[in-house]
Amino acid sequence: MTHSHIIRNSLNIKDENIIFDVNNYLCPEEKIKGTNYLIYQATLTYKPKACHHCGSINEEYLITKNGTKISTVKLGNILFKPALLRLRKQRYLCHECNRTFIASTTLVDKHCFISNPIKNAVGYELAETQSMKCIAKRVSISSTTVIRLLVNSGKALEPSRFELPEHLSFDEFKSVKEAAGSMSFIFTDAQTHDIIDIVENRQQRELIAYFQRYPNELRQKVKTVTLDMYSPYIKVIHDCFPNAELIIDRFHIVQHINRALNRLRIEIMKTIRYTRPRDYSKLKKQWKLILKNVWDIDFETYGTHRLYDGLVTEKMMVNYLLSIDNQFQWVYDLINDLKWALDTGDYEEFVSQLERSKDRPVKRYIRTTFQTLNKYLDSIGNSCKYTLSNGHLEGINNKIKTIKRSGYGYRNFSHLRARILIIFKLKDKDNKEIRPLTFEEEKEIDKQLNIKVA
Ligand SMILES: [Zn+2]
Repeated sequence: MTHSHIIRNSLNIKDENIIFDVNNYLCPEEKIKGTNYLIYQATLTYKPKACHHCGSINEEYLITKNGTKISTVKLGNILFKPALLRLRKQRYLCHECNRTFIASTTLVDKHCFISNPIKNAVGYELAETQSMKCIAKRVSISSTTVIRLLVNSGKALEPSRFELPEHLSFDEFKSVKEAAGSMSFIFTDAQTHDIIDIVENRQQRELIAYFQRYPNELRQKVKTVTLDMYSPYIKVIHDCFPNAELIIDRFHIVQHINRALNRLRIEIMKTIRYTRPRDYSKLKKQWKLILKNVWDIDFETYGTHRLYDGLVTEKMMVNYLLSIDNQFQWVYDLINDLKWALDTGDYEEFVSQLERSKDRPVKRYIRTTFQTLNKYLDSIGNSCKYTLSNGHLEGINNKIKTIKRSGYGYRNFSHLRARILIIFKLKDKDNKEIRPLTFEEEKEIDKQLNIKVA
């Protein structure tokens, strides 16, 4: 093994045509723009198989050596010190076309001074949530180079216009300052939870134009779209995915119902503020208990509570709170019946409970809440049928928040988008188990599993 061999191996350079200058193995340091670099020197030479320009096969000295060209290649850090390679590249002359060309190597691309190992390393670093400045510092290149590499990797991860899953999830997130809208649009595969793309502007017109870039027969195959309540995307879905069923995210339906219950609590609270201050503070402090699902409330464990005398259970406290006002109890019961129907995917029960509410006198906003539910009844039916939800998007949106923070404010949307695509698409995902599509299938599988266990 020659010295050149040893140096090449220790630098992890695969190209055997790079021969290190053995007289230079001491590696002098050089100060360039205020930074000390380790300097390696090597020559790149080989017998070319054919001419780069005309493609003539190199036979009988058709291509001859014709001087050299020195280029400087960044190698990254070696024991925390940035290293440079002065690479003397062979120049060749083709006697067929009379043109010259320079030897090429896998270490570095043509017209480029950043070595490919650095580019790969930056690719991996970009998949972690950290600032680009930090990456630039670690591999000793400039931030602008990192951004350029980011844009390139982002392009490589651009979603294909000829692929679209059958089940989609729609959501939005707060975008960067320079984005066209204050909110940007994000959509995922509702089954695998993989991000498909991020769109800068979530306005209807823009989104319709965006989705129309997908071929029509692909869009017709989309079976469901899961979205939040009050979603502005219903027209988009109608126009772009004519066969898709709408699914309102169950969590958002519950949130919608809970909001009405909470408002009622606050109103009751305000009416007794000066007449029954102790009950007022109970209602004020125990809002969480009121919104808790009735089937999750503990009726067994006795304990002391500073707002109550003696030993009480959660159930006793809820009963007390509900007794404060006569409308409270039955609205509470009705809302919990609705929540239970949603939780168990019992659509018929949901509809009949909603029907039951119609002939009771209630406050106007509670009536409005129920009317809204009526308006979305078909989609609620679908959310009782399909197990799909937008729960995963909350996690994704939280991650996007940390990405934005780590970048000290991405000003350019395309940079943020590239970074998000890299982080979510490059990071090796553990094999997530895909949930059965409908509750019915899931129950069937559970049943079979139980039979096996028994
Ligand atoms: Zn030639």
